[in-house]
Amino acid sequence: MTGAPGAVSVVCMTSAPRSEPAPKVVLSEDEWRAKLTPEEFAVLRLAGTERPYTGEYTDTETEGVYECRACGAELFRSDEKFHSHCGWPSFFDPADSDAVILREDNSLGMRRVEVLCASCHSHLGHVFEGEGYPTPTDKRYCINSICLRLVPKE
Ligand SMILES: [Zn+2]
Repeated sequence: MTGAPGAVSVVCMTSAPRSEPAPKVVLSEDEWRAKLTPEEFAVLRLAGTERPYTGEYTDTETEGVYECRACGAELFRSDEKFHSHCGWPSFFDPADSDAVILREDNSLGMRRVEVLCASCHSHLGHVFEGEGYPTPTDKRYCINSICLRLVPKE
């Protein structure tokens, strides 16, 4: 350790957001309401949160691909899912980093990073990092089950 001043760097993934790609799937609010159940609409389109330990995929270990329930885009894979015991399905990485968009979220008096589907800009959940989970990325993509649809591997 040299103790050199300035050696401390603050890494903040939200300080310089990437420009967001335009959604590929664009529907009106009425069209989304017709396509989704009221529960799905409340989380995907109004950025709600399902209650912990209630989602159908919280502890699922089935091998397969998790798609966006709103538009069908591939978002996560079962081999990136881990048991976080937080009450929601947790992934340490998206299937493809371009599959999701990260957006700063300062609602509810908290500084969080929102995760959205890159294809339709629906809300999926939040990502947290540096919590010490023994995963390759030390990130926890905390995703609502209701935003996902598991397509089991053949
Ligand atoms: Zn989507």
